[in-house]
Amino acid sequence: MIALTASRLYTPLEAIEQPVVLLDGGQIVEVSSLTERPLPEGVQRVDFGDSILAPGYVDIHIHGGAGHDVMESDPAALPAVEQLLAKHGVTSYLPTTVTASGDHILSALDRLATAIENAEQAQGSHGRRAQPVGIHLEGPFISFERRGVHPPQDLLPPTLSAFERFWQAARGHIRMMTIAPEIEGARAVIAEAVRCGVCVSLGHSDAKLHHTRGAVEAGARHATHTFNAMRPLGHREPGIVAAVLTDPRLSADIIADGIHLDPAIVELFLKMKGPEASVLITDATAATGMPDGKYRLGWFEVEVKNGVCMAEGALAGSVLTMDRAVRNVTKFAGWELQQAVRLATLNPSKVVGLSGRGKLEAGAAADIVVLSPSGEVRTTFIRGVRPEAAAGR
Ligand SMILES: [Zn+2]
Repeated sequence: MIALTASRLYTPLEAIEQPVVLLDGGQIVEVSSLTERPLPEGVQRVDFGDSILAPGYVDIHIHGGAGHDVMESDPAALPAVEQLLAKHGVTSYLPTTVTASGDHILSALDRLATAIENAEQAQGSHGRRAQPVGIHLEGPFISFERRGVHPPQDLLPPTLSAFERFWQAARGHIRMMTIAPEIEGARAVIAEAVRCGVCVSLGHSDAKLHHTRGAVEAGARHATHTFNAMRPLGHREPGIVAAVLTDPRLSADIIADGIHLDPAIVELFLKMKGPEASVLITDATAATGMPDGKYRLGWFEVEVKNGVCMAEGALAGSVLTMDRAVRNVTKFAGWELQQAVRLATLNPSKVVGLSGRGKLEAGAAADIVVLSPSGEVRTTFIRGVRPEAAAGR
């Protein structure tokens, strides 16, 4: 048995001083403190000095990294993305598809489902890389007006038969779906997806207030990159943003890179949704962790200059990493690191219904990020294994 010790631990709801985390294989056996009792005998101690232990980060919206997109058929693509994620503290993620032709989406869903099943079976041996734990279907059921860079020719009106085709291709591994609730047919698809256990997230949407409220009645529970690719908040035309910010039934996520949202809007959002309902995502593209240049997002090209990812004059995803998003919350809104960590761990894990992830407690997966006091990633444990790429950093 291995005992990890450090200066502090965030469960994340509680802070524990002088923590001890006992690991057996891929699981946490116990979380305690040296202030309460000494180290058990016969365990191998790994001490991280002044570091903070936190649950591994969970990214529910990511398209790629390290030069690769999650929709690529190249078998080297996902492992490259997953190694980069591990370096930045992410231990579980939802590979996220963008709008593409029906055939391209279907074949990507099939490949991603296989990757999820293989990672599940591999258990510890997948442990050197972040684990895909479900798919986020972003598009094609989105608004033409608020499509962002999603290719307009491939947008589809939401129908039960289209949803069923995607669901079958993904073999039930779709955990999250972004949909624009104002489009005809959306309400029925939302209800069906909810029935299948999918977290329905409202986004890429031109919805007015009543559309949004109707979608929440139908079971929608989250909002995708709040403010971005959404009808803007107007003081006489409140629209989707007003509903997202005020409805306690909705959790919501943001891209806290300082580019997609002004830091003051990040602060506004966090004040409105609070520590319980705010979630951080990266929306990261293949360009993440790479120099400026041209990369692909799904089946189209994006260009990155000075860390800004664009296509056809519009923002096209980000090059944000989750550890930076967490640190940005402490900078932009003055939040404590513990609260910021919650938005990248427990909250996303709850939103998509992951069990035994996003928290440090007995019985949970041994997915742990080791942080410096200011939130820099020192190393990561995935299912109790330390990826070599991150070790010794
Ligand atoms: Zn996205």
